[in-house]
Amino acid sequence: MSHPDIAPTFQDRHIGPSETEIAQLLEVLGYDSLDALVSRAVPSQIRTAQPLNLPAARAEQDVLADLRTIAGKNRPRVQMIGLGYYDTITPAVLRRNILEAPGWYTSYTPYQPEISQGRLEALLTFQTVIEELTSLPVAGASLLDEATAVAEAVLLMRRANKTASSRVLVDAGCFPQTLSVLRGRADAVGIELVMTDLDRGLPDGDYFGVVYQNPSVTGGVRDLSESIAEAHRRGALTTVATDLLALTLVTSPGEQGADIAVGSAQRFGVPLFFGGPHAGFISVRNGLERMLPGRLVGVSKDADGSPAYRLALQTREQHIRRDKATSNICTAQALLANVAAMYAAYHGAEGLRAIARRVHSHAAHLTSGLHAADIETLHSNFFDTIVAHVPHRAGVIVRAANADGINLRYIDTDHVGVSCDEHTTGEIVERVLAAFGAALAPVDTSYIPPTLTRTSPFLQHTVFRRYRSEAAMQRFLRKLSDKDLALDRTMIPLGSCTMKLNSAVEMEPISWPEFAGIHPFAPADQTEGYRELTDDLERWLCEITGYDRVSLQPNAGSQGELAGLLAIHGYHTANGDTDRTICLIPQSAHGTNAASAVLAGMQVVVVATATNGNIDLDDLRAKIDRHSGKIAAIMLTYPSTHGVYENDVRTVCELVHDAGGQVYIDGANLNALVGLARPGEFGGDVSHLNLHKTFCIPHGGGGPGVGPVAVREHLAPFLPSDPLAADPASPPVSAANYGSAGILPITWAYIALMGPDGLTRATETAVLSANYLAGALAPYYPVLYTGDGNLVAHECILDLRALTKATGVTAEDVAKRLIDYGFHAPTLSFPVNGTLMVEPTESENLEELDRFIDAMIGIHAEIQRVADGTWPLESSPLRQAPHTAAQVTTTEWTLPYTRQEAAFPVPSLRENKYFPPVRRIDGVHGDRNLVCSCPAPEAFEAPSSTDTREEVLA
Ligand SMILES: *Cc1c(COP(=O)(O)O)cnc(C)c1O
Repeated sequence: MSHPDIAPTFQDRHIGPSETEIAQLLEVLGYDSLDALVSRAVPSQIRTAQPLNLPAARAEQDVLADLRTIAGKNRPRVQMIGLGYYDTITPAVLRRNILEAPGWYTSYTPYQPEISQGRLEALLTFQTVIEELTSLPVAGASLLDEATAVAEAVLLMRRANKTASSRVLVDAGCFPQTLSVLRGRADAVGIELVMTDLDRGLPDGDYFGVVYQNPSVTGGVRDLSESIAEAHRRGALTTVATDLLALTLVTSPGEQGADIAVGSAQRFGVPLFFGGPHAGFISVRNGLERMLPGRLVGVSKDADGSPAYRLALQTREQHIRRDKATSNICTAQALLANVAAMYAAYHGAEGLRAIARRVHSHAAHLTSGLHAADIETLHSNFFDTIVAHVPHRAGVIVRAANADGINLRYIDTDHVGVSCDEHTTGEIVERVLAAFGAALAPVDTSYIPPTLTRTSPFLQHTVFRRYRSEAAMQRFLRKLSDKDLALDRTMIPLGSCTMKLNSAVEMEPISWPEFAGIHPFAPADQTEGYRELTDDLERWLCEITGYDRVSLQPNAGSQGELAGLLAIHGYHTANGDTDRTICLIPQSAHGTNAASAVLAGMQVVVVATATNGNIDLDDLRAKIDRHSGKIAAIMLTYPSTHGVYENDVRTVCELVHDAGGQVYIDGANLNALVGLARPGEFGGDVSHLNLHKTFCIPHGGGGPGVGPVAVREHLAPFLPSDPLAADPASPPVSAANYGSAGILPITWAYIALMGPDGLTRATETAVLSANYLAGALAPYYPVLYTGDGNLVAHECILDLRALTKATGVTAEDVAKRLIDYGFHAPTLSFPVNGTLMVEPTESENLEELDRFIDAMIGIHAEIQRVADGTWPLESSPLRQAPHTAAQVTTTEWTLPYTRQEAAFPVPSLRENKYFPPVRRIDGVHGDRNLVCSCPAPEAFEAPSSTDTREEVLA
């Protein structure tokens, strides 16, 4: 709380409403203090007695100085460890205009495609890059990392293959972290991994799939065609984990016959980040696209028949299919996929090939230098990685390189690995050779033979040719982000996905080389800064949640859920409770909950919702009785996804505990609890948090995310292990021990800047603002559920079903009409069909809250004009919404409302108007005619007739 003479603190900047505005809002609601409001809204049974014990708030410059000190304890080196992470040069134009540009990083997942055309186009470009480099026709819009991508591919092969076998063959040439993650995921669902050296041929037996890695962990590049053909003859599907840069020079998985390709797009311009965030990728042959895990961008058409992008085949996803979804992935790595796509566009096919040739040439020089010194290397065909055979000398060599500032890979006492990358120079090659006691020697042979050399073209589309100058790229990126609505233009009032401020000061440190340039497998003495950062964060998150231990490994909420459920499974198993496999999930739960339960090997049993929106206690008791002795857990969200602080939560937890089950509290709604209540105190055994919701990591247009899992002491032994641990005690869920470590400074900064009082006040203000909105809108749109004092928590559900019944105007119409008013729509039809869920967060000031309220009231007046017959529904501005500039400037205008009513329904839009680039998009058309790569430019030319347009899209 600032005195007039004192400079504003960070919390004054982060929290939108000023002191005076907070007083105004309280007055409207009839409370005389925030405390009074919160005491009424939050049930006393769950209120914590202990205020947050966290370091006091500090000023922006002080927190940045602290972070500088922490960063200074990391030691960036020349990183040649490889193992799936390769240094890369992020073109400054991409760093500044994507990674550091709010228009890109503050945008939400593109569920509202009309205001997301820019980022959808970028993601489609990413898909095109993956499809063409792997030579497989359909690629997804990113997965979480390479190791989980392999696990997803194995699950896909199992789903797609009708054979009875539950065994999968896995190449010994896979990365160790991949094997470790895959083993945990396979065990959980009863898949048997059979490890084998596939270079020796396929072993006997039945397998539903085979996983290869090419180039292999030791750098060998192989022609897998025969092995893949043999696998197909034996009824198995095949997956190849591969490397995008290598694929510019060597034949691709698709060309070698594979069904699926996976990997990481990190080395296309995304910093090492101590392990993440990076975009994993997956592409598949025709026939498998409907089973793809994760999001897929497709081309459809808008109301004018113009091509338009949207998320395709969403009916596969967890929010619709729940426990039958193709995976639990929700938040993925959109921002990083966009960087990778633009890296490919900036360099083009020739540029990428030139980088790859340079990288390969350095590896070739290393090899010939070693051979000249009589040091053997493992493979005669390789791309960027070599393994030297140095009996008993590996330690000495790795230490010598280290003393010269270079990290090599210590494999065992006799072997050292070296991976070259875009940063490698001739001078570095000489220093590496010196560490081996060798020197440069001429390269007189080819290490990529003609049979393995790629001759097929790739990246021929104009997007990979047009933006080679910096001016052209800068304008392209600006053009794309101008098509979109992100937090830098409007509030994004999304229930369940807290879209609060991502402040510039929190974002700054992630680009510092001491955070961005660290390899995840660097020696511990080079990563002390990261350890201090993660130790602080783990401690602070324990304090905030009331749990005893936290793992920062999960790189999305969904992965936190999986880690938490695997911990529960591990705990029951350790207690001999192997029958406990049932996971109770309330009807209103987020779709990831059910999908994660299945991936953890559990059976989902749904618990009904009572008429007041709370968990139906009678139904819960009945389900517990029916499945007595078999309850593994309940997964509940608190406050509920209905936006209400349920009074019964302690009872719910007790009932499940009495039945021997564990309580999983989904922490995505922690923004309503921080400083007021702790899930670890009121009954939870485990929770995941979403740092990309409550703790200011930006959404990035659909990722990155961080989903830490927090547990009480008894579950601590079952938290995810280090994926590189020799004998992991429990399954890891990410390829790197700290998952998306590179963005943890954002959350660290937020907590340090806000301090305990600021964090608590943020929660209180979020609750205040939600209740202000609910109160102001309730006369127009009934608020579906409320708790004590007729209050909501930090979000509210506006029920449009009665209006829809009376007028035909749907919640979707309202969502699209909000675009004309300059807003991103609230959450549509989750968790209740036909409703909008609104969460203003603490970051929006009174002016923005009122602008939203005015828009919603204006739309209500429009609905009345449909109701009273002034406007037929089909030709109303609601059904026609959103309106493009092209549409409202046509010569002919036959609609019964004016152009002004269409585009400028409120006067303030005259000085700040957003026009969507496309009209409402036809989703069904896009799913029927699946197109998931960049369409030919002609598709965007004005059609001479509708028929030709159809042809172009078909
Ligand atoms: C966002 C959300 C999740 C999933 O988190 P992701 O990071 O998208 O995987 C789970 N539960 C709830 C209630 C959520 O709002």
